[in-house]
Amino acid sequence: ERAYFEQFKGEPSISRDGHHVEIAGNIGKPEDADIVLENGGDGVGLFRTEFLYMDRTDLPSEEEQFVSYKSVLEKMKGKPTVVRTLDIGGDKKLPYLKMEEEMNPFLGHRAIRLCLDDTALFRTQLRALLRASIYGNLKIMFPMIATLDEFREAKAILEDVKKELVTEGKEVSDTIEVGMMVEIPSTAVMADLFAKEADFLSIGTNDLIQYTLAADRMNEKVSYLYQPYNPAILRLVKSVIDGAHKEGKWVGMCGEMAGDEIAIPILLAMGLDEFSMSASSILRARAQIAKSSKEDLEKHIEKILQLSSNKEVSGYVKQYLMKEP
Ligand code: PEP
Ligand code: MG
Repeated sequence: ERAYFEQFKGEPSISRDGHHVEIAGNIGKPEDADIVLENGGDGVGLFRTEFLYMDRTDLPSEEEQFVSYKSVLEKMKGKPTVVRTLDIGGDKKLPYLKMEEEMNPFLGHRAIRLCLDDTALFRTQLRALLRASIYGNLKIMFPMIATLDEFREAKAILEDVKKELVTEGKEVSDTIEVGMMVEIPSTAVMADLFAKEADFLSIGTNDLIQYTLAADRMNEKVSYLYQPYNPAILRLVKSVIDGAHKEGKWVGMCGEMAGDEIAIPILLAMGLDEFSMSASSILRARAQIAKSSKEDLEKHIEKILQLSSNKEVSGYVKQYLMKEP
């Protein structure tokens, strides 16, 4: 099977009826970029930068971060590289950063909320990213955005940091796209308004499912509610894709669902532009898309959105959308 997938290495990601998508990899450390390339990834769709902050005793300096971001961008040789700013809190804690105990950490002071509060920490990361931007095709993405005000504030800080660097005589790329994760239902519902102000959107289904079904993603007892094919999730995903396209923006997905064999035909039919997944899934996904006709799949979307459960959708997809051509 592995040998069969090998033929898709270095090939474009394209459906049987000629529709192009991007299949990218998720990474946590700079070295993971090599694995994405070995697996034929079209880019990096999510660099989870919190790993640079974990397993240490102090904050990483601007210089340390610069070296890491530069190395990823150089390895990727001009391929799109989406770097997500610090997404700490929730299940991820930093021992050296004082973070209060919270009743509901997943609903608490995390990710962009923390960065907009601790602007020194945020600005250090943005300085490192902007300085590294000239070494590749950098796209900056903010996590856990809930409101337009937060997105605007994050972008304003980024602009201010850029000005500061230019004043210092440092070189910064002027083609950096700035986007956000859609992983909170408020942003999925208003995706068209966010898309007006973002260069791209990337759907984070791991959190979007947790928040839509109100089920802690770490709690075994409620794991039965982790339902990627629940029509409520599919309707939200469709509204995000349509909202982004209405504004002429591209939309990706970087949650686990993007590499899921049952989800892929649905996402392809809905017009998702970029699928970002663990490196080991890339060639399998490309092979699956190569066998699929987007046009044929599209005919099923209306029906799928009228189904009433996760199980009905997976049954439908297995029966009608996953047959050999
Ligand atoms: C997500 O929420 O889907 C996501 C990609 O981010 P993380 O898993 O890092 O929360
Ligand atoms: Mg998330």
